[in-house]
Amino acid sequence: MSPPQTLDVLIICAGPAGLSAASVLAEQGLEVHVVDRENAAGGIPRHCGHSPYGWREFRRIMGGQNYARRLIACAQNHGAHIHTRTTVVALHPQGSVDLSTPTGLHRVQANRVLIATGVRETSRAARFIGGTKPGGVMNTGALQGLVYLAQKSPFKRPIILGSELVSFSALMTCRHSGARPVAMVEPNANLTTYGAARWPPRVLGIPVHLNTQITAIHGRDWVTGVTLKSGETERRIACDAVVITGAFRPKNALLRASHLVVDPSTRGPEIDQFGRCSDPVYFAATQGQLPDPAPTQTVRAVDNAIAWHTPQRIAQTSETPSNAAFG
Ligand SMILES: Cc1cc2nc3c(=O)[nH]c(=O)nc-3n(C[C@H](O)[C@H](O)[C@H](O)COP(=O)(O)OP(=O)(O)OC[C@H]3O[C@@H](n4cnc5c(N)ncnc54)[C@H](O)[C@@H]3O)c2cc1C
Repeated sequence: MSPPQTLDVLIICAGPAGLSAASVLAEQGLEVHVVDRENAAGGIPRHCGHSPYGWREFRRIMGGQNYARRLIACAQNHGAHIHTRTTVVALHPQGSVDLSTPTGLHRVQANRVLIATGVRETSRAARFIGGTKPGGVMNTGALQGLVYLAQKSPFKRPIILGSELVSFSALMTCRHSGARPVAMVEPNANLTTYGAARWPPRVLGIPVHLNTQITAIHGRDWVTGVTLKSGETERRIACDAVVITGAFRPKNALLRASHLVVDPSTRGPEIDQFGRCSDPVYFAATQGQLPDPAPTQTVRAVDNAIAWHTPQRIAQTSETPSNAAFG
């Protein structure tokens, strides 16, 4: 069933951010509709068979799929309506939103719209990795979809690019599927992750190459190896897949095609301290009581050492943002 034509709150996407916001807002008595393009709600954790999820919200360590189920149940128990197989295709001024649904295109009018479309990993193309274009090159999200949702073991000896938390998630997913990574490769001098997440490669005896880039991928139909470059030294190693992990970017295709102002540094929407976008009907986070949207002051970084900052605008008010459901 599609959302009604007019509604209080439309939440774009049923990942953890959208579902958490839906629970909080529906609990306050608002009529909340959440839409997601997938067949099932839950976002990334639905693809993620491993833990740890859930400690912050439920004080329990859970696998991704149980965590997703728990968030869906919470939102529905509070009265939120979830519509899957519903893709948001355009955002228009003042809460008018176009949806593509199994019954066709619909336009809905919402009093407030929360954008919680999540992030994606930076692709091979955006990292300028050369070589051929064989099968077997994927990001962690695609790998997890194959392993945990489709129950496939797509390769045996992959190489993993990156050393963020998600890279270790890729490592655990490889192990779950019966694959043994030949190495992890990190272009920087140190691992990006911290704490106990650094241990698995050591415990499993998987080499970690720091200060190293993958400069080319080889193979005709399927990956047969990669070229690694450390300083001026290049060498080729054999592997049967490349898992390209992390370097998350906001999924911002909808935003870029819309009237909302996009921050070129974060590539997400420009917001004030209440999570409110340039069109104040749209939000990237929900934050308690709201003052009038105007006037606002723009914040600009004056030093190149600051890559990005948020919020990008400050609404001039004595109200402070209270506890929140973030998108
Ligand atoms: C591989 C991997 C492993 C991870 N492991 C852990 C972990 O162990 N523990 C942990 O705490 N965190 C982990 N994380 C992080 C965690 O999954 C994310 O922080 C969380 O999923 C972010 O939630 P979200 O709602 O912002 O986005 P997402 O979960 O990405 O959900 C976004 C939703 O938006 C939908 N969507 C996008 N565009 C549209 C559109 N136009 N129309 C309709 N729907 C749309 C998508 O279908 C998706 O369902 C992991 C992340 C990854 C990628």
